[in-house]
Amino acid sequence: MSNAVDLDIGKFLDQLYDVYREIDAAYAEAAEYYGFSCEGCEQNCCDTVFYHYTLIEFFGLLDGFDALPEDIQARSLQRAREYVKELNRFRGKEQNVKILCPLNYDGLCSVYEHRPLICRIHGLPGSFRHPAKGIKTFSGCKRFEETNKMEKTKVIERTAFYTRIATLESQVRREMDYLMKFQKTIAEMLLDRNLV
Ligand code: SF4
Repeated sequence: MSNAVDLDIGKFLDQLYDVYREIDAAYAEAAEYYGFSCEGCEQNCCDTVFYHYTLIEFFGLLDGFDALPEDIQARSLQRAREYVKELNRFRGKEQNVKILCPLNYDGLCSVYEHRPLICRIHGLPGSFRHPAKGIKTFSGCKRFEETNKMEKTKVIERTAFYTRIATLESQVRREMDYLMKFQKTIAEMLLDRNLV
């Protein structure tokens, strides 16, 4: 089996970052429509436990992590260990726990350009057309739901983004001959980097 070291991941990451740019543009357009901003928000969504499901986003995140200064990397890994220790007490009921992402410093994401899809898109209403299960809709974040007075006529259509990331994921998995399920928090991605 080839691994992440053998794989020429750059060509896939370039495509992932193109998708990220398009997500950011769609998000900015919707945010402008609603007059919505995260600025000054005290409900930091970086303390919500989210799982991430793709190797390609895992490699994208590590690409950003590797560019951080060494002392921040070391501190983040220590925070990641504490995060997982705390999370282990709440497995299966993650919605009941708030733990700050180990890559968030003073309210800011230290890997902002490399943050995964869900970190980019979470705040505003969205929809996704699943090929088998039909249309799934997403509400905005807590702040959006509390402050927005407008009808939710502007919805970020996630289908094309998910589809393109899924296509990249299949290509990466095929090249790596990787068949296992991937489901990790950001903290677990940092700690498990050598297990893939
Ligand atoms: S990766 Fe960045 S945006 Fe996502 S939860 Fe962590 S700090 Fe927040």
